[in-house]
Amino acid sequence: MFFVTGRNKLNGARDILATARQTLIVTGAGISAASGVPMFRGRHGLWRYPEFWKFAHPRGHEREPQLAWDTFEYARVLCELCQPNDGHRALATFASRRAVCLFTQNVDGLHARAGSEAHEMHGSLQRYRCVSELCRYSSLPSLRQQQVPTSWCPSCGRRLRHDVVLFGEQVRCWDDYQQAIRTCDALLLVGTSGMVTNTAGLVRRFRQTRRWVIEVNPALFTPATPWTSVSVRGPAEEILPELLEV
Ligand code: NAD
Ligand code: ZN
Repeated sequence: MFFVTGRNKLNGARDILATARQTLIVTGAGISAASGVPMFRGRHGLWRYPEFWKFAHPRGHEREPQLAWDTFEYARVLCELCQPNDGHRALATFASRRAVCLFTQNVDGLHARAGSEAHEMHGSLQRYRCVSELCRYSSLPSLRQQQVPTSWCPSCGRRLRHDVVLFGEQVRCWDDYQQAIRTCDALLLVGTSGMVTNTAGLVRRFRQTRRWVIEVNPALFTPATPWTSVSVRGPAEEILPELLEV
């Protein structure tokens, strides 16, 4: 059941995607909500947990490395137990048929498990890397079939950490992202509050250069909403299969 979605909105958004030569898709925590991955904000948001704040900063990892490892391992296993939903699957099918650049702020690995080649701007809980920049050890994307590793680097013996971007660290795939922003003629924003990685700024830039912006979000208003061409109100797992006709 959709919330406020008028049929015209859905049809208008469909027309935009049908005529776009290349579409930039940016997803946030909302697309994984139906899979059971907790969001950042909201009543049951992660921000309520002190461990989240402590270990969202590199300093927390330096001070209490074992507890940081255990906390992120817990989050990794929780995400592994979640399954991709119809929203992830619809995007994967759409991407196999059309020219799209898919970027996600999520670290849960669910786009990859649904079959999408998503650029993971904030990294992934499903990979590990060495704390040493010089070592550059990075695990394979999926360790799901393997044993949970120890928290020590098999290459140099220093500590391993989960390969996610913490506060103050460099966002991944930045050059690819900038390239996609320059070349895509439509933007589809799914399940993001618009408050991270300057998503609201991205939306403004698209509109100022007279390109199309579609937003899919059950919230009545996000910081991106004033700049969208069409705001489709509803959960991604229900809207995307209809919108993308998959
Ligand atoms: P956010 O929590 O700030 O915003 C989530 C948005 O999703 C909200 O606007 C909400 O209205 C919307 N939403 C809720 N249910 C939805 C649904 N069923 N379908 C579509 N939209 C829905 O998340 P954010 O803006 O992505 O930023 C949070 C940051 O925290 C990100 O940088 C991300 O890396 C990290 N994070 C990641 C995950 C994950 O990997 N799944 C989860 C929580 C936080
Ligand atoms: Zn190492």
